[in-house]
Amino acid sequence: MNYNISITKVKQPKYKSLDFNDLPFGRIFSDHMFVADYCDGNWQNPRIIPFEPIAMHPASMVLHYGQAIFEGMKAFKNKQGEPVFFRPEMHAKRINASAQRLCMPTIPEDLFLEGLHQLIGIDHNWIPTTENSALYIRPFMIATDEFLGVRPSETYKFIIFTCPVGAYYSKPVSLYAEQHYVRAVNGGVGEAKAAGNYAASLLPAKLAQEKGYDQVMWLAAPDFKQVQEVGTMNIFFVIDGKVITPKTDGAILKGITRDSIITLLKDKGIEVLEQHVTIDDILDAHQKGTLQECFGSGTAAVVSPVHTIIIGEQKLVLPDVENAKIATFTKSTIEKIRSGEIEDTFNWIQPVRILEQSLA
Ligand SMILES: *Cc1c(COP(=O)(O)O)cnc(C)c1O
Repeated sequence: MNYNISITKVKQPKYKSLDFNDLPFGRIFSDHMFVADYCDGNWQNPRIIPFEPIAMHPASMVLHYGQAIFEGMKAFKNKQGEPVFFRPEMHAKRINASAQRLCMPTIPEDLFLEGLHQLIGIDHNWIPTTENSALYIRPFMIATDEFLGVRPSETYKFIIFTCPVGAYYSKPVSLYAEQHYVRAVNGGVGEAKAAGNYAASLLPAKLAQEKGYDQVMWLAAPDFKQVQEVGTMNIFFVIDGKVITPKTDGAILKGITRDSIITLLKDKGIEVLEQHVTIDDILDAHQKGTLQECFGSGTAAVVSPVHTIIIGEQKLVLPDVENAKIATFTKSTIEKIRSGEIEDTFNWIQPVRILEQSLA
């Protein structure tokens, strides 16, 4: 389908005065945003406009009953300086899976992708070029009915805006196995990228940090044995040469980095087991000396290595992350596919279409 996206450009682009060597995460916003409104059962008035605050009615349903979902993705410049996306269609599919769970309207994949291409095409000068830096992209959808009754909203806003971000250096982290609070339960909304999941994770994360640990390792209720995720990432273990990641069961976010890692490793002939992992499995492996690696996976850091896991009274120290072969291989392979240093055999890279009007 052909969407007629209207374009209103800023008079003075701000990127010209931006210091691309100093990019704190999530605080600098590019010149434009993409907006579409859902009303009368349709997505209407898709437009690219100058980045600006949105006015909201105090009774907007999102502010009360939390129909809010989002995505997190990136655009890069490859070695040739061409802007590219990494698996954008997967993000379009996932926001729709989230929308369905939160009883929100889906957005046609081609509208999502067209908005994305045109927005990043217009703001391509905001994509930093230093190694491993990126343009972080935040698509999201919120309920906008001005109504306090509890029911699904009938109007929504879908917005995409972007932030240039520097290379994300993920220093190895310690994990605290959380045995009181849960992030998500089977049948809940853990599989959706819903804003409320993040709200629910803040207190346990803060308490873990007060105890001196970087991130929470989430376990499944009611027995707090089965491992789900780490912080806002998926989790991988390497035990006795085998790569293991919890199988998605309804409470685990289906990470696109997770999927990419599984695909890469299998392609290399490395066994990957998607199965339940319990804290007993981890304690047992550690005791036997076969717990070789643990890392988180997500768009922000790609791979975030773990040096210590705290389970109850036990403190499991992992082998030096410098020697973590699987974590290092996956991180560098994904980064090299993005930069074009190695061939994109899985068709993960999509060049940003830069329309002539966005060059004007
Ligand atoms: C977004 C997210 C991830 C990672 O997903 P990617 O697609 O790899 O970025 C993992 N867990 C949670 C809870 C998330 O919200």
